[in-house]
Amino acid sequence: MSGSIVLFGPPGAGKGTQAGRIVKMTGKPQVSTGDMLRAAVSDGSDLGKEAKEYMDAGLLVPDSVIIGLIVERLKRTDASSGVLFDGFPRTIPQAEALESVANVIAVVSIEVPDDAIVDRIVGRRMDPETGDIYHVEYNPAPLEIEKRLIQRKDDTEETVRSRLLAYHKQTAPLADWYSEKGLLFSVDGNGTIDEVAESIRDSIVGI
Ligand code: AMP
Repeated sequence: MSGSIVLFGPPGAGKGTQAGRIVKMTGKPQVSTGDMLRAAVSDGSDLGKEAKEYMDAGLLVPDSVIIGLIVERLKRTDASSGVLFDGFPRTIPQAEALESVANVIAVVSIEVPDDAIVDRIVGRRMDPETGDIYHVEYNPAPLEIEKRLIQRKDDTEETVRSRLLAYHKQTAPLADWYSEKGLLFSVDGNGTIDEVAESIRDSIVGI
């Protein structure tokens, strides 16, 4: 299928985890603005320094910064038949900007209620070598990997609450925006990783 897919949902819905599955299924490269920003922060670039303040506070990074990153990323040849956006767009202006640089064919919304989110995020751990995501309780890492797991700096309960507020205020309205365009596919994010992956596959298989 030609065109881009957007993975949409609150922080902690499992977008990053499911992105890996969709990449395998569609061959489209994953474009995660969160990963791009974290790379910029660890490089210590000016952009990274600016973004870090917002990220640590659980606020959205300004649209102009994000749109600039995406426009540059989409110039790479691997993006020519579409990509899988993870964590982008997060505001209506970002979605409007995206319309002029990519052909979005589906927006997969992973739905998880707020009360489950805090629990998911606070127990979330990442393998810095592979980028794989685990959960101390729901998806524990093998013992040999467990030692090297790290916790994202913004995965604390306080920051999660700010991120959820930002999600409801700035990002959630995008669901209606995409629904009106007939592009929104909602899946229940409450099952196991395999169950959610299957629902996503079922929802996009025919597009
Ligand atoms: P994520 O890994 O997608 O949860 O993103 C981590 C943080 O990066 C967010 O809490 C925001 O501060 C920032 N961020 C990532 N993607 C975007 C975006 N599309 N728009 C604005 N800020 C973003």
